[in-house]
Amino acid sequence: MRKIPWVVPGILIGCLPVAAQVIAIKAGSLIDPDAGAALADQIILIHGNKIDAVGRGLAIPSGATTIDLSNMTILPGLIDCHTHLADGAHGDGDPISQLKKSASRVVLESVPNARVTLEAGFTTVRDVGVYRALNDVALRDAINRGDIIGPRMFVAGAYITITGGAGAMTGLAPDIQLPWDFHYGEANSPWEVRQKVRLLAHDGVDHIKVLSSGAVLTHGSNPKSQEFTLEELQAAVDEASHFGLRVAAHAHSPEGIKDAIRAGVASVEHATMIDDEGLTLAKQHGTYLDMDIYDEECIQESGRKGKTPQDFLEHDRELGQIQRDNFRKAVHAGLRMSFGTDAGVCAHGENARQFAWMVKYGMTPMQAIQSATSAAADLLGRAHELGSIKPGKYADIIAVSGDPLRDVSLLEHVQFVMKDGKVYKH
Ligand SMILES: [Zn+2]
Repeated sequence: MRKIPWVVPGILIGCLPVAAQVIAIKAGSLIDPDAGAALADQIILIHGNKIDAVGRGLAIPSGATTIDLSNMTILPGLIDCHTHLADGAHGDGDPISQLKKSASRVVLESVPNARVTLEAGFTTVRDVGVYRALNDVALRDAINRGDIIGPRMFVAGAYITITGGAGAMTGLAPDIQLPWDFHYGEANSPWEVRQKVRLLAHDGVDHIKVLSSGAVLTHGSNPKSQEFTLEELQAAVDEASHFGLRVAAHAHSPEGIKDAIRAGVASVEHATMIDDEGLTLAKQHGTYLDMDIYDEECIQESGRKGKTPQDFLEHDRELGQIQRDNFRKAVHAGLRMSFGTDAGVCAHGENARQFAWMVKYGMTPMQAIQSATSAAADLLGRAHELGSIKPGKYADIIAVSGDPLRDVSLLEHVQFVMKDGKVYKH
């Protein structure tokens, strides 16, 4: 039993009010993704929700609460840049199942998604779309108020998509009228795209998600197709910039990927069929590739259980391996890569399983860790407050037993989680 009055092992205490006090963490090995190095025998001093000081042999102030993690490896809280926390319970592979639930049921089913994600060591997520518009905004705000437990969420509010496109609720008879929140982001011209960006900015979103090609997990969609035009993508990026928002573009097809990069998006999601010209453009523009190379395992597994609709499996054929091979090319080309899993395809809380696959397909363990820490924070535009354990940044800190630089799969077993200076798992 550790001598911390307010920590009881196995019980979450993050919801208890804690006065702004000093916490000292004794770190065994501390991974600094900014430097790409592991530092020995570090002390981290935390005041309130921020990191005050980090260094070897720092004096621990009297009255500080000490957390001894000297036999563990300490890392900054992990960041998943592609999640769908607010779509309700995981398990049914067909989006049409959303029509059997009320919006409030979906968002309440999402509460455990947020909790297991945080407990898995992901203290921040960039959530990139919901079937029912603004459920993600509600979930984010409930976490920020302290009503429920979850990671810091940065949210998109809705998919901006063409009619019948990758982000639409499809597969219904044409005379079925959907509620407004199932097609809030539908847009079919540059000016309609601008209008949707304006609405979402007013709704308080943190970034914009556009769908530049067809999708795997959408009825009637072809992932090899192009959806928005270059003009529409440029309108999205320009209008979003007026509100200080960045754009993430879903794209599988080579042309969908390249037009999104040309338009100036911050990241391309999936980037499945990126070709050599696309790799060159991404390098020139400094675009992040956010490639979900693990979730293929879950799509296939769910297909074997008969849960994934047959047309989705047909879309997916060959694409999984193509994406993994292109991930390896992108790593070798030295592109900016962020960690994004498409959580919701696999169960929430399993996000860290992707690390081993990133290493299998060409990254070093340090590069894989950087993709989920310093690089992810940079993609979010928040490198000044997230992504490494440095003075002035949020006290988002995790710990694992052993050395993840030797075996990155150790990150699947995070044993200590602090977010915002509060301990959620110990
Ligand atoms: Zn997604």
